[in-house]
Amino acid sequence: MKRSLSLSLAVLALSFGAPRVAAQPLVVKCGKLLDPATRTVHAGVLVVFDGGKVSDTKAALAAAENAARTGAKVLLDLSAYTCLPGLIDAHTHLLLQGDATAEEYDEQVLKESTPYRALRATAAARIALDHGFTTLRDLGTEGAGFTDVDLRKAFALEIVPGPRVLAAGPAMTPTGRYPLLGYSWERKMPDGVLKCDGADDCRKAVRWQAQYGVDWIKVYADGSYYRTPDGGWASVPNFTQDEMNAIVDEAHRLRKKVAAHSMTPTGHRIALAAGVDSIEHGDVLDDETVKAMVAKKVAYCPTITVADFVKGPRSKTNPIWDQLWAASQESFKRAYKAGVPIAFGTDAGGFDWDKRNQAEEFSFMVAWGMTPWDALRTATTVAADLLGPHKDGKLGCLDDGCVADLVAVAGDPLLDIKTMEKTVAVISRGKVVKKPD
Ligand SMILES: [Zn+2]
Repeated sequence: MKRSLSLSLAVLALSFGAPRVAAQPLVVKCGKLLDPATRTVHAGVLVVFDGGKVSDTKAALAAAENAARTGAKVLLDLSAYTCLPGLIDAHTHLLLQGDATAEEYDEQVLKESTPYRALRATAAARIALDHGFTTLRDLGTEGAGFTDVDLRKAFALEIVPGPRVLAAGPAMTPTGRYPLLGYSWERKMPDGVLKCDGADDCRKAVRWQAQYGVDWIKVYADGSYYRTPDGGWASVPNFTQDEMNAIVDEAHRLRKKVAAHSMTPTGHRIALAAGVDSIEHGDVLDDETVKAMVAKKVAYCPTITVADFVKGPRSKTNPIWDQLWAASQESFKRAYKAGVPIAFGTDAGGFDWDKRNQAEEFSFMVAWGMTPWDALRTATTVAADLLGPHKDGKLGCLDDGCVADLVAVAGDPLLDIKTMEKTVAVISRGKVVKKPD
């Protein structure tokens, strides 16, 4: 049902005669504008970006209308396209380039230097922008320390193009619960995470993370997933309840939120009792978990794209991955029906940035029963709620005071959600980073 559009577009970059020091407002003309917050479609809208934010004050709009009439200001003509707020992917790994197997993971951590990985991350960031993702919550550097904090800074200062990053530094597990594993005990291997053991040590680890500027704390709540004799699901919990409580308490005390990788109810119980802010993956969400998440307004990042990516290679050695895929569909439907806040998160980096488009996640969600509007809200309204206030402005919206991020697609995602995989224009921090040919 994709509409075919063959209108030619003109991108006008005309001087307004303003002093060279002041950046000119960018005026964008949208054929349609989707507002996920209110689920409304506006036709023929002008959006004005000024000073890194959307400005819909009367003066700005009058200036925009004048600009449209006279061509006197910088005008990006997207009148043949549908505009949306810049998208948020709330679960990525910029420092990772696909790790369907343990070998692929170990190779990156062992053979690639941190500077090399940072260079690859800038290429990944460019791909994310190209796909319309202007804000990323990056959940773990996988052995690359606080390189995500450096990336956040480099992108914010526009040293290289990249999305707004909320950084988590190294994710956290106790000793022995995360790669690199399986090497000779005589070798000192690098860790993909920051290890802590015992409540005091874990509290200190959170403080250490905060010292180096993380926005979020990422923990691995469970691992080693297995089926119980009665057909249920379980896993090995990583942290004790005391340790998890200490992590969450200290993070919240320092005004940081906590994201918990948690695949089965074993992990969910501990993570939710401690008060985490989001459950990542959540492949097996039972009724008790769903109830608790609704009551506590804990967000769920389903990361369906990565689950689809890893199930083939991983199930060759362990059939549990195919079973997790099947379970995750049921969990998604259960959570959606019950009203769990579902935030868009793909685990990009867990799959190769250049092989899969993060926006595929929208299609999976719609195929699994979500309405297109609600799917669009996961990457805007709901993800923005999860991330909380940001110094740049409001996220996931295009009203006055929202960040100057916009994506345009050819066609109507409400009729064909696959359209989200074909961006034609992207604006990040008020700069046009992609425009129609
Ligand atoms: Zn992840």
